[in-house]
Amino acid sequence: MRLLLIEDDNLLGEGIRDWLIHDGYAIDWFTRAQDIAHAIKIEHFDLMILDIGLPDGDGLAVLKQLREQGEQIPVLILTARDAIHDRIEGLDSGADDYLVKPCDLHELSARIRALVRRNRGNASNVIKCDGLTLDMETHQVLKNGDPIEFSPREFSLLQTLLINMGRPVSRNRLLESLYDWDKEINSNTMEVHIHHIRKKLGNGMIRTIRGLGYQIDRQDEH
Ligand code: CA
Repeated sequence: MRLLLIEDDNLLGEGIRDWLIHDGYAIDWFTRAQDIAHAIKIEHFDLMILDIGLPDGDGLAVLKQLREQGEQIPVLILTARDAIHDRIEGLDSGADDYLVKPCDLHELSARIRALVRRNRGNASNVIKCDGLTLDMETHQVLKNGDPIEFSPREFSLLQTLLINMGRPVSRNRLLESLYDWDKEINSNTMEVHIHHIRKKLGNGMIRTIRGLGYQIDRQDEH
């Protein structure tokens, strides 16, 4: 999954970015309000973590504008400890949740998982499909009850395909979920990861949709 982080405090931004990379997410980190709309326009993000006080403007004003334009991305705002009005205004401006700075990183991860779950209408951290169980919290994957080992990138790809179960996910979208903008994107590397996942799961589960990408079918579609 790919997250957008907007935070102008370098120490905090670095801390959050490194933590979430460690947690298996691809992160794009920007420090200015003016970067937000542009980033969302050209890439797909699963969630945005948004600081309110930015050097070139107000994060909430940008959020409000995005919501007015119909932008649906789940948004978690970061607010100062004593700024209750910021939290209220934030939620009213279209934020889905907030965290008070300095935030506990474990709590940040849990809230991200909760927002992603809510966004796809699922109450659990566990996705199940055809004998396969993927736990977004523990990163454990079971096939018919037996654990299967996946590399972090393989896990991330499988998770993206399962979250979008029943619809095709484009190669670009899968690549975006794997890499940050500053890393070189290589389509062949992704094919190799998919090949490895298929070897572990059996060939039938991930379908290649010609011209579109890959898809895991819902169980009732088999
Ligand atoms: Ca700030």
